[in-house]
Amino acid sequence: MSSPLLEVSHLRVEFPTRRGTLLALDDISFTIAPGEILGVVGESGAGKSLTGAAIIGLLEPPGRIAAGEVRLEGRRIDQLRPAEWRRVRGRQIGAIFQDPLTSLNPLYTVGHQLVETIRAHLPLSAAQARERAIDLLRQTGIPAPEARIDQYPHQFSGGMRQRVVIALALAAEPRLIVADEPTTALDVSIQAQIISLLKRVARDHGAAVMLVTHDMGVIAETCDRVAVMYAGRIVEIGPVQAVIHRPAHPYTRGLMGSIPAMDVERERLAQIDGAMPRLNAIPLGCAFNPRCADAMPRCSVERPELLDAGTTRAACWLHAPGGAA
Ligand code: SF4
Repeated sequence: MSSPLLEVSHLRVEFPTRRGTLLALDDISFTIAPGEILGVVGESGAGKSLTGAAIIGLLEPPGRIAAGEVRLEGRRIDQLRPAEWRRVRGRQIGAIFQDPLTSLNPLYTVGHQLVETIRAHLPLSAAQARERAIDLLRQTGIPAPEARIDQYPHQFSGGMRQRVVIALALAAEPRLIVADEPTTALDVSIQAQIISLLKRVARDHGAAVMLVTHDMGVIAETCDRVAVMYAGRIVEIGPVQAVIHRPAHPYTRGLMGSIPAMDVERERLAQIDGAMPRLNAIPLGCAFNPRCADAMPRCSVERPELLDAGTTRAACWLHAPGGAA
């Protein structure tokens, strides 16, 4: 396997509050190789969007990276100053968010925005940048890009706008794309097109893609590997087919049970009772223990790290060497 393009090691994100410090991300580690798509899945509040925001330097204050590091092609990016971030975002990292309107300026044509972004990062003339912009719109499936380039965001449908955002994110040929729920607001047929576009970008450009979503169906369609998050930690990580068909963590099993069965063989699992804890009330030991049917005494005392669990790694004492004792 090629060396990782993105390396996240022991990332810890805190939110200081008047009542104390909330630990929002705890010891997050993963890598993404060039051309690989890593899905990050979990319920809302699990920390998946926060992980994406921390990686691209867009944590909302007072949130801060309190420990760990993030490396892009070997270079540390977790301590960049705002001016350095502006160069890295756009040039080396492309970001795609759920709502395309947060990334587009309604006052300018999409062509203007694309050309600005391209010229900010690549040494091209205005005419060359416009050519590239038209080409990007074509690649992202916008019909008649020569005409549409001079239109404003409000003249595009939701799905078309999201394609424009993807074109913007790709404008400077970034090495890493962080996409946070990029298809959630779109109808299913557009969703499929955006997904195949992301796959093509990873395959053809060797970009690493981090795809944050709550939708296991999208993960199954798109990703090579998947990280499952719960209460600010990764509880399972592994190849997508293994996580879907042979989940090793009881929470992942429950999560898989809550999506429509993708094959008839697989036994449907009951949904998990209870709710994910708030950040200020994360239980001691394994954060999932109050909801876990397999919990044992050590689960409410000791927090499990990610352990080898066959084809995946799972943070669960059931996979401790020597068994569950
Ligand atoms: Fe359940 Fe214990 Fe595993 Fe946590 S560590 S998921 S409580 S068995």
